[in-house]
Amino acid sequence: MIIQLSTDIDKGSLELILSRIQEIGYKATEVSTQIGGYLVCIGKKDFDIRSVGNLKGVVDIHRVSDDYKLVSRKWKVNPTKIDLGDGVEISEGGLAIMAGPCSIESEEQIEKTVRQLLANDVRIMRGGVYKPRSSPYSFRGLGMDGLKSFYRICKENGIKVITEVMQVSQVDPMHDYVDIYQVGARNSQNFNLLDALGKVDKPVLIKRGLSGTIDELLQSAEYVFSNGNEKLILCERGIRTYEKAYRNTLDLNAVPILKEKSHLPVIVDPSHGIGIRKFVEPMALAGIMCGADGLILEMHETPEKAFSDGQQTLDFNEFEQMISKVRKAFELHKNF
Ligand code: PEP
Ligand code: MN
Repeated sequence: MIIQLSTDIDKGSLELILSRIQEIGYKATEVSTQIGGYLVCIGKKDFDIRSVGNLKGVVDIHRVSDDYKLVSRKWKVNPTKIDLGDGVEISEGGLAIMAGPCSIESEEQIEKTVRQLLANDVRIMRGGVYKPRSSPYSFRGLGMDGLKSFYRICKENGIKVITEVMQVSQVDPMHDYVDIYQVGARNSQNFNLLDALGKVDKPVLIKRGLSGTIDELLQSAEYVFSNGNEKLILCERGIRTYEKAYRNTLDLNAVPILKEKSHLPVIVDPSHGIGIRKFVEPMALAGIMCGADGLILEMHETPEKAFSDGQQTLDFNEFEQMISKVRKAFELHKNF
């Protein structure tokens, strides 16, 4: 059960609501976000919700039986809209495109990528400065120095930055240099990290874990929301299955399911999803046609020289061609 509280609720009214919930035999957790105040109440007993709904300070009350509650669509009528400022938004019915290299490599690379994004009217650049790599001997990213250049060049050009945060200790230092924190597949259930990201006022994109279920992804989002941050984006990036013909199995089934279950925007990552450059485009188009609110893509001027994930990275020309098809697919889908 979710109780939405009025923003100007007084202490006495809150205490009354809490004692009523306790009487009924429910356990209440208070959640206060950038946007509102909530009580998430867990219990089994059937009761007349009007007996709480009528109390002073209650805006609305909803039964939500799922394990995840605040991220559920069952209580929130309007889907979540992520406003990044300067007219850049991620929301249901929109087409948010994030593109850039797997890893940030140099200022020259950032500048070239920014120019390519601007030429294609793409307003969000991706790029890792802390890289989770299967081998400890692979390139692990340029760290904070790389992030500072990345953010500065993007800001000068009106481009927003999304980059991966790998651990709790990076959350604060990165804060002023990101527009969206990315939680990688390997950290999808790093609950300490999710708790920490719940305490910041910046959007968080959470990727589905390598073997994470849809329900687990939603519960990861619930961690962030219940710690105070409503600005969340979900990302399907492929899961590990028995199939070896491609890097991951991009589970596009997850898109309509997530959209039905949650009010959060859903983004598809076809680059990691299939892991093969020439097939990124068809999977990106498929993602749009099944209702994704956007895409996150790997792009590099010379993918064969990329420090990481070159095999699944589009070159500038491939990117340009793909973007024009993606926009057509988006219009087609919108007008179905
Ligand atoms: C990435 O975006 O480069 C990345 C490491 O993604 P994932 O966490 O999905 O593997
Ligand atoms: Mn990558």
